[in-house]
Amino acid sequence: MVHCFEIGGRKLVYDPASGGLHAVDDLAFEVLSSLARGGEVPGCDPPVEVAEVLAEIKELELKGSLFLADYGRQLYSPPAFAPKALCLMVAQECNLRCAYCFAGQGAYGGGGLMAENTAFKAVDYLMEASGAVRDVEVDFFGGEPLLNFPVVAAVVEYGMQAAQTRGKNISFTITTNALLLDKRASDFLLAKGVNVVLSIDGRKHVHDRFRRLPSGRGSYDLAFVNAKRHFTSWAGNPRSSYCYIRGTYTRLNLDFAEDFSHLVDEGLTAVSLEPVVAAPEEPYAVREADLAAAATEYERLAQRYLDYRRRERPVRFFHFELDPAGGPCLTKRVTGCGAGFCYLAVAADGRLYPCHQFVGDEAFCLGDLNGVRSEHIVDAFLQAHVYNKPCRACWARFYCGGGCHAAAYAANGTIFEPSPVACGLMRRRLECALYVLAARKTD
Ligand code: SF4
Ligand code: SF4
Repeated sequence: MVHCFEIGGRKLVYDPASGGLHAVDDLAFEVLSSLARGGEVPGCDPPVEVAEVLAEIKELELKGSLFLADYGRQLYSPPAFAPKALCLMVAQECNLRCAYCFAGQGAYGGGGLMAENTAFKAVDYLMEASGAVRDVEVDFFGGEPLLNFPVVAAVVEYGMQAAQTRGKNISFTITTNALLLDKRASDFLLAKGVNVVLSIDGRKHVHDRFRRLPSGRGSYDLAFVNAKRHFTSWAGNPRSSYCYIRGTYTRLNLDFAEDFSHLVDEGLTAVSLEPVVAAPEEPYAVREADLAAAATEYERLAQRYLDYRRRERPVRFFHFELDPAGGPCLTKRVTGCGAGFCYLAVAADGRLYPCHQFVGDEAFCLGDLNGVRSEHIVDAFLQAHVYNKPCRACWARFYCGGGCHAAAYAANGTIFEPSPVACGLMRRRLECALYVLAARKTD
């Protein structure tokens, strides 16, 4: 069924199955909203206007961009287990003690640093397990991966060589808090085309509230100077790699449009802001009661994004960059991140998990680099696609892909029941992204 919504003074109608997005007038909006609710066509004086609207709706239906049936269920067949991306927890320790960290404030169960031979074995595993897939990816994650920079550098060289031998293309991404991103590390990552995700939450007081050094001091000043240097160098010559700022917001900064503006105004113009993944009882977890405020804030963020664009500032906000014509294939749209079968995390000791958020939770350990032993877990993640969850009836399903399994598990203790808060945030963020799309077409 179509989704009708108003934002920024525009009335928009989105058809999930076709991806059609329509900017409509008041009467068409009223008619479509009523049809979407399963109601009657509203009466109108003069009635000829409603007849015209209905004729236009019929035309769009015939063109396949309104009320298209969802054939995805019939067309979709679950992919085979063939991980094409590995997240290497090269350092299961951290030089920060972020209070909201899923990794237990840097302790991470004392996982330590990944040995070079484990990391190389992980690359070999990826080359083998990805089968015929040509494009493979290694993500360096932690804790703080730059605590193990020699292994990061060695894996980049080793992975490039292994990919060349196998006729594959390999890409690398590192997610770092930037504290150790000195010029030497930065130059290496730039020279090798490694994608860099910089964890900065926004304004200094927002960042420092959670992202603290072991001494308790905030890390903003130390992190920001390195992040800015790296981002500026990258932006001067982006080649084929990407770099962006990834901030986390919590219920304590539901004015996160200010964090977006702060980063952009400081020259960090490619940004993603994500809600914290946390158990609902955490005092900083975003709650259902916060959804209205967050919805308003996403709209503010969208207006700011458009304002920057109108002033020809080259800003990017990850979640506002929809590609309705191209975009992901059906499998990706139905399964989202692919955790557990397309994307795996490797703990420092070589054990395999569905993704970085599950590392250390023995209930989710899949096996190790000698092979997957817990096939039932892989199967559960393969089964957790949109048609097996309440998502099947959600208008946002083909952009959302069924949400984050880790957020679902944190909220409901199962990956088959999405977190209502995450859903509320996702739907609003998507409405804003569709609004941005419509506004940019007509600006
Ligand atoms: S918003 Fe929620 S219900 Fe909708 S597709 Fe995403 S996870 Fe599923
Ligand atoms: S389960 Fe969540 S955290 Fe893990 S890869 Fe998927 S979206 Fe990311």
